[in-house]
Amino acid sequence: MRNILLVISGPSGVGKGTMVQRLSETGEFAFSVSCTTRAPRAGERDGVEYFFLDKEQFERKIAENEFLEYDNHFGNYYGTPRSFVEETLKEKSVLLDLDVVGALSVKKTYPGAVLVMLIPPSIDALKARLIGRHSESEEQLRIRLSRVDYELSLKDRFDYCVVNDTVEATKDILLKIISEEMNREERRNRP
Ligand code: 5GP
Repeated sequence: MRNILLVISGPSGVGKGTMVQRLSETGEFAFSVSCTTRAPRAGERDGVEYFFLDKEQFERKIAENEFLEYDNHFGNYYGTPRSFVEETLKEKSVLLDLDVVGALSVKKTYPGAVLVMLIPPSIDALKARLIGRHSESEEQLRIRLSRVDYELSLKDRFDYCVVNDTVEATKDILLKIISEEMNREERRNRP
């Protein structure tokens, strides 16, 4: 079995967080906690969902080449700590929750990374989920929704696209993908 770098991606609100949580519970993965400059939502803990940094701290890390990839979307920085991913992969599979552009940029560094795009069953379902979680202002919602078409247009560049209809069905599909990928012979995760 090989350790894999699994990237769960897809438009904002598609259900990446829930899926990442379910996959983390299997014990097969170490979740890579990203850094962000966005403010914590209710219940989010520093070092668990994200490392919450201010802009200056984040930009210092950029200058020191500490990110495997980073991006600025919705007015905030988000980045994947390089050393955590590199070190952990030697011991264990790693799970990333990234936006679509971040996922594609990881693939450039790690061609062996397994990219999964979660697809909403419909745009209406996605809107309902984003609105229902009450975590964004109207303006933030508008910005997030305005990116959905662009994000979905990149789906052909992903290894797998899975329509996220129900949590259990999606989890079962992902477990199958994971098992196949872990049992592939070649170890392709060298940067
Ligand atoms: P949220 O603010 O809803 O937690 O995340 C916004 C978007 O940023 C989501 O699509 C999430 O997957 C993405 N994201 C989280 N961490 C990272 C990261 O380290 N790098 C990139 N490029 N995107 C990230």
